[in-house]
Amino acid sequence: MRVVVLLGAPGAGKGTQAPLLADRLGIPVVATGDLFRAAVRDHTPLGTQAKRYMDAGQLVPDEITIGLLLDRLGQPDAAGGAILDGFPRTGVQAQALDAVLAERDSSVAVAVLVDVPAEELVRRLSGRWICRAAGHPYHEISSPPRVTGRCDIDGSELYQRPDDQPETIHARMAQQLGALDEVIAHYREAHLLRTVDGLQPIDIVSSAVAAAVDAAGVGR
Ligand code: AMP
Repeated sequence: MRVVVLLGAPGAGKGTQAPLLADRLGIPVVATGDLFRAAVRDHTPLGTQAKRYMDAGQLVPDEITIGLLLDRLGQPDAAGGAILDGFPRTGVQAQALDAVLAERDSSVAVAVLVDVPAEELVRRLSGRWICRAAGHPYHEISSPPRVTGRCDIDGSELYQRPDDQPETIHARMAQQLGALDEVIAHYREAHLLRTVDGLQPIDIVSSAVAAAVDAAGVGR
């Protein structure tokens, strides 16, 4: 099982890079934020539990999040591995992932940090619009859609996530950046961390992410 962890703060560009890497490696993207948004949309009990944390810009508690991730990794399309986007987000989640992979005689192959300074993250999140159908991301200044309010890829409506409102962005940053540091330290200690400069243009970031993954020996 090839497991690649994509790390970065909200707005660092993980959601843009993950599908590019998935195409390259032939394994699915597993994004816990997308799984939670789908559960909220479908009004599942898990979605109801998660929604109040998400709307407040807080992390969903570890026990809920870890259960959700493990269920998803158990599905057949993830048998060969996955690119994890938005998980782990805490040290406890990182340890739980190591433990479950060890049971399968596997381990995280590499953790790639897409590094972007905090001021730039706030700028990016406050201009972010995503599509209803698939979460394709746009930015009102740096990457606007061809037709205002419509996704270039699937034509669905664009909307601003409730947790991308300015007040919520600051709450997310305050809680999530501290937790991200724990996760970065976890992979640095395991000698699995590679850092990519996330301020570069999207195609340069994706080449750098691909090079980091290649260097770790993760092939198709
Ligand atoms: P994202 O789309 O990755 O920014 O995630 C949206 C929201 O879902 C986050 O602000 C959290 O409330 C929740 N979430 C996603 N992934 C996790 C995680 N690994 N741990 C805790 N909460 C998460």
